[in-house]
Amino acid sequence: MIDLANTPAPETREQQKTDLFGLTLPELVDWLAARGQPAFRARQLAGWLYDALTADFAVMRTLPTLLRDLLAREAEIAGPAVRRELASRDGRTRKLLLALADGRLVESVLMLYPASDESRARATVCVSTQAGCAFGCTFCATGQMGFDRHLTTGEIVAQVVHFARELRREPWIAPDGQRIDRVSNLVFMGMGEPLHNYENTLHAVRILNMAEGLNIGARHVTISTVGLVPGILRLAEEPLQVNLAISLHAPNDAMRLRTMPVTRKYPIAAVLDACQAYTARTNRQVTFEYVLLAGENDGVAQARALAALLRPLRQLCHVNLIPVNATSAAFRPPSGEAIRAFRETLRAGGVSNSVRAERGDDIAAACGQLRTREGRIGKSAPVLPTA
Ligand code: SF4
Repeated sequence: MIDLANTPAPETREQQKTDLFGLTLPELVDWLAARGQPAFRARQLAGWLYDALTADFAVMRTLPTLLRDLLAREAEIAGPAVRRELASRDGRTRKLLLALADGRLVESVLMLYPASDESRARATVCVSTQAGCAFGCTFCATGQMGFDRHLTTGEIVAQVVHFARELRREPWIAPDGQRIDRVSNLVFMGMGEPLHNYENTLHAVRILNMAEGLNIGARHVTISTVGLVPGILRLAEEPLQVNLAISLHAPNDAMRLRTMPVTRKYPIAAVLDACQAYTARTNRQVTFEYVLLAGENDGVAQARALAALLRPLRQLCHVNLIPVNATSAAFRPPSGEAIRAFRETLRAGGVSNSVRAERGDDIAAACGQLRTREGRIGKSAPVLPTA
C-alpha cells in the first residue's frame, strides 16, 4: 500500500521519463532511433515488456548494458499501486482499487468465464479510462463522483498488464480443465467514458492489440459509450475491428433523461443515426446495453418501444440486458418474471437479446462502487471537481 500523503505531485515527479506502456512498436522504434538505437531493439524491448512481463530494466539481458542504463535514466515502466484487492466468493471476479502516480483512484476488474456454447473459457479485463466521469448517469457510482481527469495511454495499458502478470503467476484452471494464463478479452466499461478520452483509449487498444504487445484480438475488445455521436462516427473510420456497445437504458428521451443527462446533448435519434452510419461503414453489430431498473424501464410497454426503436438496425444489433446492481442510487433489480417478459417481447419484435450475468456483487464489482466506498471511509480519496 502506498502512502498517498507522500506521493509527489505530477510536476515534481521524474515526469520527464517516457512511459513505455504508452508507445506502440513504431513509436518505440522512433524513440530508440532518436537515441541512436537500431530498430530491432524495439522488438526486443517489447518482448521484455509484454512477453516476459517484467518491469525491471536490469533483467533485460538481450539489451546491452548501456541501453539498459539509458532506459533506466529516460524511461519508466509505470504501474499503478494496488490500494485494495477483492475477490468474489467464487474466485472468478477480482477487483482492484488502483492508486495512480498522482494519488487518483481507479478500478479495474478481472472476470474469468468458463467455456459456453458460444465461446471458450476466457479472461476479460474491465478497464477504466478516466478518474471519475463527467456524464453523471444516476445509476452509476462513478457518475456520482464527477470528472477528475483522463487516464494516459500508459495508465490504461498498465491496468491490463497488471492482470496479465497475475494470470502468468497463477493461471486459472477453468472447469473444463483449460488453463487460462493470459488476458483474452477487454471491455472498456470501467470508470469513465472511453470516447470522451478517445485518443488515449484508442492508442491503448492499438498497443494491447499489437502482436508484440499482449496480442489481444481487436474482435475481443469492446468499447462501451453513453452515445457520444462524434466518437462513434470517428470509431467507424478506424481500421481496428473493435466491438461497439451503446449504453441505452431507455426507449425514449424523456425516460433516458431521468438517468442519463447526456441525452440532452445527444438524443436517442442522433445516437441511433450514428450507429446506422457505423454499421453501414463497418458491417459490424452494435450491442445496446440496457440496465433494467425495476418499475422504471423494465415493463413490456418499454420492451415494445425498444424493439420498435431498434427496428432499422435489427440485422446488426443485439440488446444486452443488465439487471441493476445495488449502488447508492435508489434502484432495485427487476424480478425474474419481469426479465423474462421483457426478453420475450424483444424477441417477438425481432431483436436478439441476452441477459448479462452480474459479476462480483459480493465485492462491489459495478463501476465505481469500490472507489465510492473508499471515498466514503475517507482514506486519502482525492477531492473530485465536477465537470
Ligand atoms: S455509466 Fe459510464 S458514462 Fe455514465 S456516469 Fe458511469 S462511467 Fe460515466
